[in-house]
Amino acid sequence: AARAGRSLKRAFGGEVKEAVVRAVNDVDLTINRGEVVGLVGESGCGKSTVGRMVAGIMPPSDGRVLFHGRDVATLAAAEAKQAALQIQMIFQDPYASLNPRLRVAEIVGEAPWVHGLVQRDAWEGYVDDQLRRAGLDPAYKRRYPHQFSGGQRQRIGIARALAVQPEFLVCDEAVAALDVSIQAQILNLFMDLRAELDLTYLFISHDLGVVEHLSDRVVVMYLGRIVEEAPTDAIFRNANHPYTKALLEEVPRIDTRKRQFAAIKGEIPSPLNPPPGCHFHPRCPHVMPVCREVVPALREVASAHRSACHLNGRQPARMSGGEYSAC
Ligand code: SF4
Ligand code: MG
Repeated sequence: AARAGRSLKRAFGGEVKEAVVRAVNDVDLTINRGEVVGLVGESGCGKSTVGRMVAGIMPPSDGRVLFHGRDVATLAAAEAKQAALQIQMIFQDPYASLNPRLRVAEIVGEAPWVHGLVQRDAWEGYVDDQLRRAGLDPAYKRRYPHQFSGGQRQRIGIARALAVQPEFLVCDEAVAALDVSIQAQILNLFMDLRAELDLTYLFISHDLGVVEHLSDRVVVMYLGRIVEEAPTDAIFRNANHPYTKALLEEVPRIDTRKRQFAAIKGEIPSPLNPPPGCHFHPRCPHVMPVCREVVPALREVASAHRSACHLNGRQPARMSGGEYSAC
């Protein structure tokens, strides 16, 4: 396993002093070495929080993050530094994280220099290699970030991440800010890098269409909980959870940004005060009385396919009427 979170929780202090937002609750996620896992859900569902905890940027308030089977919180300083280099995060807006006063060569070459991954006489060639790998012409390495397009800036961010020789990339909406044609180029780059460098990915996106082409496995989150998890094919051909099915109906054909989730009834409830029982019940077309009270457990519905819905295995009871009649 490249990285595993065990029953992660992250609680945030809310606006009101008493209120605590449980942005993520009992998330148990295992990502195997070499695997691409797509993490999807509407904004505010806790995907970014999970990504940040996995990347070690944000410690869980409860639970553990394991890397190669070891709890990262208990690693000695040198090992913790090593783990931090091995997992790199790529964000939606690389511009915000690129120092505008540094030239591209410095942006890409600083961390490997600081961490002793490259010697002085090899430094320039090393930087050129990272830029080429990310699809940038090293001839432009003396330029500043503002002299590049959005897609090129994302490539600079990718080159910078690759420069510390990571084995695991956490990409949070890494193509969401780009034009559709540029999105495809960057997604292809991620796939090429996977093959070339044997990388593992956690690919976070609100867009199931993006995740479909990239992921071996898809994890769906809703209001801080994992509601479904399955191989990508199974999610797209045989989704189990009503929330996943609603998301799939919303996968747009052409423009990927404007129509997201418009057909799912109702607003996302406030994470400050999530609905009891199944968090999805106020928006679910199949809601039953039990859904309002009991949290559905994540259960296996097929091989490697888990779903958290009271309909699972309850179909016979429901078919015969009685306690699961529609409400
Ligand atoms: Fe819908 Fe109930 Fe399943 Fe939740 S548990 S998704 S409310 S049927
Ligand atoms: Mg986010």
